[in-house]
Amino acid sequence: MTTDILVKAIDVTKNFGEFRALDAVSLEVRKGEVTCIIGPSGSGKSTFLRCINLLERIDAGGIWVNGELIGYRRDGNRLHELADAQIARQRRGIGMVFQRFNLFPHQTALENITEGPIQVLKDNPKVARDHAMHLLERVGLADKAGNYPAELSGGQQQRVAIARAMGMRPNLILFDEPTSALDPELVAEVLDVMNDLATSGMTMIVVTHELGFARNVSNSVAFMDGGRLIEHGPAAKVLTQPDSPRTAEFIKAVH
Ligand code: ADP
Ligand code: MG
Repeated sequence: MTTDILVKAIDVTKNFGEFRALDAVSLEVRKGEVTCIIGPSGSGKSTFLRCINLLERIDAGGIWVNGELIGYRRDGNRLHELADAQIARQRRGIGMVFQRFNLFPHQTALENITEGPIQVLKDNPKVARDHAMHLLERVGLADKAGNYPAELSGGQQQRVAIARAMGMRPNLILFDEPTSALDPELVAEVLDVMNDLATSGMTMIVVTHELGFARNVSNSVAFMDGGRLIEHGPAAKVLTQPDSPRTAEFIKAVH
């Protein structure tokens, strides 16, 4: 594998009982690239992110992050599930931002960001707080450091959630419809923060219906339907001249 590939998924298959939620999904994401995943509800977008982040176990195929097989170790041709500690270690390198800003309600914005670095990465608390303040500045919320989530708007909470993900110094951040639960007037401030993050070189996989963001910020766009990855290519190509009529139909319906 060439070194600039950060995420490589090959033939990832995931079943829920009899139902096949992911059917041989393959995708490569280069370091520093933003890949948007679009597609109708139920097409497997969240399941795919959850497999990358080890929240779900795959039934077939493989996912490599930074050249390392995720969730398993290979023994000849056989795969063995990794021990919990190894899985936890792999998950630490992958940030996730969900649709619902799942901040810890009893912690301030600053504490939400320092919790992981202090508890998990064993950072010095003062260093962690300085770093968290820097991150809050980056997302434009330095003045909200002492506020609790309930005192913040949805857009502000989501910006804290992004800062919290960044606080763990991940190689990769996965976003699952980060603006879908927001009031329309709050969407732009979150997309601006994501745009800034993309510009800084963070590798991002973003499930979104914001086709403007996909067009302006992402390097490539993947379209999923029925558990399959139907097409993947440069954003301009997929969004304006898709190969598949299903992609074209979806894009037309979202607009
Ligand atoms: P999307 O994010 O594209 O809307 P999801 O990945 O959430 O789609 O879901 C894909 C399909 O898998 C849906 O039909 C959904 O009902 C099903 N699914 C997702 N999670 C589970 C689960 N834990 N158990 C059973 N079915 C599931
Ligand atoms: Mg989803």
